[in-house]
Amino acid sequence: MFSPVSILVVTALSSILSILVLISLLSHAIAGVPRWLWANVLAIVSLVLFSVQSITPAWLGVVVANQLLAATILLIYEGCNEFFDVPMRPAQCWTGWIMWLGVMAGIAYFTYVAPDAHVRVVIVSAFHAACCLAIAGRVLIERPKERPRYNYLFVAGAAALGALGHTIRGAIYVVKPPAQAALLQPGPMQITFLALGILVLPSLCIGLVMMAHDRLAQRLERLARFDDLTGALSRKALLAAAAGRLARATQTGTREYVAVVDVDHFKTVNDRYGHAAGDEVLRHFASIVQARIRDHDAFGRIGGEEFCLFCTAARIDDVTALVERLRETVEATPCGVPGGVLHYTFSAGIAAWDGREPLASLMARADGLLYAAKIAGRNRVKAPAADALA
Ligand code: GH3
Ligand code: MG
Ligand code: MG
Repeated sequence: MFSPVSILVVTALSSILSILVLISLLSHAIAGVPRWLWANVLAIVSLVLFSVQSITPAWLGVVVANQLLAATILLIYEGCNEFFDVPMRPAQCWTGWIMWLGVMAGIAYFTYVAPDAHVRVVIVSAFHAACCLAIAGRVLIERPKERPRYNYLFVAGAAALGALGHTIRGAIYVVKPPAQAALLQPGPMQITFLALGILVLPSLCIGLVMMAHDRLAQRLERLARFDDLTGALSRKALLAAAAGRLARATQTGTREYVAVVDVDHFKTVNDRYGHAAGDEVLRHFASIVQARIRDHDAFGRIGGEEFCLFCTAARIDDVTALVERLRETVEATPCGVPGGVLHYTFSAGIAAWDGREPLASLMARADGLLYAAKIAGRNRVKAPAADALA
């Protein structure tokens, strides 16, 4: 049952399954997936060549088979670099393939010039161990820290296991080579390392698919969290963030404020320049605000051309000054739209949280002041006087 050929065939079958699963991810345009797919194609060809090694010439069953398996692990590593969008200098891109050519030269030399199967094993094991180690390191360093770590640790663990297996195998062949050197001879050493191989490649591929699925989940969460037109927080995420801020402010005693902001005469923009121009104004407005608020402020779109800014400040005058600066910047910064360049303004109402009231009541008070700003002629910021809050 545990003959080397059966182990190779099972590993090839698992690569076919990996290909079928990876194909399902192709349409999502996840960087790295095409390389992982090709890696499995090469693995299958290589494993088939290994399993018929006894009836094929050495250049095919030894040189080509080893090179394809070496290319498999290298492509998986390159796919990881693409997946994490690691910036690579051209020299770095070629390092792996230059090493791969070195392996080919070594295998050819120790097959034809000075035949020595033990040295071939050492060369190949060193290459695989280095690639596995590089994969484990890359995934550990680049894994997004805000995401659940299980999928990433799974890949790193599978790669580390591969690195360990290949290192031990290489070391054994250096120190005390076993009697059977050929891959298909059913010695305990061959069976052990092939069994490790059968575990590592499919585990690695399962882990890569798990990472790709986490990327999809990340995209969906981002879509739910951010407004896709403006990049501001979505209404739902903003309200959740605001509730969290008020809860924290109760414990820390910090002062929370909200500004409700509405673009003036926005319907006229749509009517005069078209809906696409209106969208451009919304993007323009959000980018101006986002560039000027602090990281810990929460800015979101609550609907149409209405936005909300939650911030912490010592006094309401500081918040009024911030929103007033935003108003002046927006008024002075024209927005380029398909039909030309247009100027627009906004109105805002600011309210200070009293430390007890529900979020809806806080926002209703800011909304009331926004309405007052509109009535008073638009392009202005209304806030309660500082002494009225004392
Ligand atoms: P006011 O100064 O009183 O705020 O007037 P307004 O014209 O800005 O407000 P009104 O509520 O009359 O019009 C808002 C318009 O915003 C109506 C709606 O079609 C448009 N709108 C809502 N969402 C979007 C969007 O995502 N893109 C575009 N282009 N328009 C939108
Ligand atoms: Mg409006
Ligand atoms: Mg409105």
